[in-house]
Amino acid sequence: MAEIVIEDLKKQFGDFVAVTNSSLTIRNGDFFVLLGPSGCGKTTTLRMIAGLEFPTHGKIFLDTEDITFLRASQRNIAFVFQMFALYPHMNVEKNIGFPLKTQGTGRSEIRKRVREVGKLLHLDNLLKSKVSALSGGDKQRVALGRAIIRRPKAFLMDEPLGSLDAEFRESMSFELKKMHNDIDATTVYVTHDQNEAMAMGDRIGIMDKGVMLQADDPLTIYNKPRAKFVGSFIGSPAMNFIDVNAFVQKGSTSVKINGSNLTIPECHEDSNIDFNYLGIRPENIKIVNKGDIRGKVYGVEYLGANKIITVDTEFGRIKVRAPSVINAKFGDNVGLEFDSNSIIIFNGDDETAIKSQFIN
Ligand code: ATP
Repeated sequence: MAEIVIEDLKKQFGDFVAVTNSSLTIRNGDFFVLLGPSGCGKTTTLRMIAGLEFPTHGKIFLDTEDITFLRASQRNIAFVFQMFALYPHMNVEKNIGFPLKTQGTGRSEIRKRVREVGKLLHLDNLLKSKVSALSGGDKQRVALGRAIIRRPKAFLMDEPLGSLDAEFRESMSFELKKMHNDIDATTVYVTHDQNEAMAMGDRIGIMDKGVMLQADDPLTIYNKPRAKFVGSFIGSPAMNFIDVNAFVQKGSTSVKINGSNLTIPECHEDSNIDFNYLGIRPENIKIVNKGDIRGKVYGVEYLGANKIITVDTEFGRIKVRAPSVINAKFGDNVGLEFDSNSIIIFNGDDETAIKSQFIN
């Protein structure tokens, strides 16, 4: 188990900046998920932690050791690839034990540790099987076994479940998390799947365009996004955003919208600019008869326990998650009531949340 600290990391490929301004602490024992759209710099960040790429700028520490420019083989970190390369001519036991063999560990010690790992990953009955005869999930377990057996300080995983079908992916993700807990590991896990990230992560780091926008526990990420991108990337449907053409002043507890005052959480700082966004999750809006924001129902999606009602307003299309008993149909004229405590104000200039909203 180890702590990984990243300080002001930057990686440039020629003129192209793949990762920039990234600082982050991955705590001892964290299952830390790096999440973001394709090309945002997740793999590049992971490869720098692994020692497969060296940063253009910044530092990486494993516990207190500066490992920034150590080669991968000099770091006590295991990398589990999506396209795991197992040795097809060797059986499961030999594949798992291979890293210890290359380290020169004695045969009886290798056998003992392979048995331990096999038990942990439910591969005990398959130790003598050829890997070519295994299912995708079992192959994935063998790949994990090969990473675990070295007892590294941390595990790095790049979309390890990416090649599995949806059902199997879900069960493997539970197993992976359980294994992480069982061996008390520190894990950095890359995915572009928000559901996987929310289900597995103790903490999630969200990246966009090479920048780490927020690193927090899943609940905080969901309820208190610090950037507009985070609110839009997490949640289905995404957070609603409404342009507020108003200067949000220090001490403000409301903004004028549609000629009426809409209550907002108290601001402790000026927004500096006079165009801002207001962000609100669909479940924090109620359909009401009256209401300052009005619109016409554009669509209703039934989800069983609740429904998503899409309302066209003069501020754009707003999605509301309502109990299924709420009656609303296409074309109905409805009012919307916002839960003011759940509103986040985003600075329209750089699309980050106004910081004072996060002071408890
Ligand atoms: P994905 O989920 O698609 O793998 P990612 O978030 O992991 O995306 P990276 O693989 O880190 O993204 O890539 C970030 C950007 O850096 C991409 O635009 C990619 O094309 C670019 N990039 C990565 N490696 C190199 C390289 N060796 N040379 C040039 N550009 C690179």
